[in-house]
Amino acid sequence: MDFEVIIIGGSYAGLSAATSLGRALRKVLVIDGGKPCNRQTPYSHNFLTNDGETPSAIIKKATEQLKAYKTITLLSDIAIDASKTENGFEVLTSAGKIFTADKLLFATGITDVLPDIDGFAECWGISVLHCPYCHGYEVRHQPTGILGNGEAIVEYVKLISNWTKDITLFTNGKATLTDEQLQELRSGKIKIEEGSVKHLVQESGKIKSIVLQDGSSFNINALYARLPFTQHSNLPQQLGCTITDERYIHVDSFYRTSTPGIYAAGDNSAFMRSVAVAVASGTAAGAVINRDMVIEAF
Ligand SMILES: Cc1cc2nc3c(=O)[nH]c(=O)nc-3n(C[C@H](O)[C@H](O)[C@H](O)COP(=O)(O)OP(=O)(O)OC[C@H]3O[C@@H](n4cnc5c(N)ncnc54)[C@H](O)[C@@H]3O)c2cc1C
Repeated sequence: MDFEVIIIGGSYAGLSAATSLGRALRKVLVIDGGKPCNRQTPYSHNFLTNDGETPSAIIKKATEQLKAYKTITLLSDIAIDASKTENGFEVLTSAGKIFTADKLLFATGITDVLPDIDGFAECWGISVLHCPYCHGYEVRHQPTGILGNGEAIVEYVKLISNWTKDITLFTNGKATLTDEQLQELRSGKIKIEEGSVKHLVQESGKIKSIVLQDGSSFNINALYARLPFTQHSNLPQQLGCTITDERYIHVDSFYRTSTPGIYAAGDNSAFMRSVAVAVASGTAAGAVINRDMVIEAF
């Protein structure tokens, strides 16, 4: 084997796993395509000792610190194929390199599927937000929109009302909420607009207003949206890892997927999406992989 472990995805979860494994003397290759999901957000919040740091600065510091562990190799590349071999796994990269290892860890993250609304992509992670714990404090008490529809949006609206009382729910078409839910939101002073969204007016990613198809316009400083997502990499599925109905890689409480020898950590397998949670799961997954290898070899 070229390596004991190959980690595909070298962002917060992958580099944390590499740190655990490097400290356990393991020979590890980390392959990373350099596209973390938070790359457009100017500042990352709610990660102890790094609150308000840029996402890339956190990665840079981690990469620097990993240089202390000589058994860790970091490679900028994309894993485009992976297969099971007699004793482990083989990974092919887009640069045409082939590597083998005993174990695989997917720390590949997820890809948000942005709606086709002009201005949305420019604002994503800057003033169009997915998580109030990450960015809600910076836009507290400000005029805020929430884009969403259906039953699940009700709890999200209630959650956001912790940070601001000036909320308009944009359902982007007729609201598919029950009369009771609409009544509940309205009694909580939530304004509801059912028109189709035409575009967002923004400047350098900072939203100024949301414009509906009928021409009406609403000034807001932030827009929350819970988006659908896909797995960033289809290799886990290709290798037989079970994907849950919610589109996550299924893992047990020790980060083991349904395919023996393959593990997953970070956003690709966890509902709670944050740098701290990705770091925690990567750290733990690295320890579990080392533990499994020790027991298997003893
Ligand atoms: C817009 C936005 C803003 C956010 N802001 C915050 C915040 O302020 N605070 C906070 O705590 N959390 C925030 N988050 C959540 C946080 O960014 C994620 O929870 C975290 O990035 C997950 O880390 P990860 O390592 O699992 O995945 P990612 O960080 O998404 O990294 C996955 C990595 O895997 C690589 N990869 C995927 N497939 C392959 C492949 N086949 N070959 C090689 N490499 C591959 C990608 O290129 C990428 O580098 C934000 C998320 C978003 C979307």
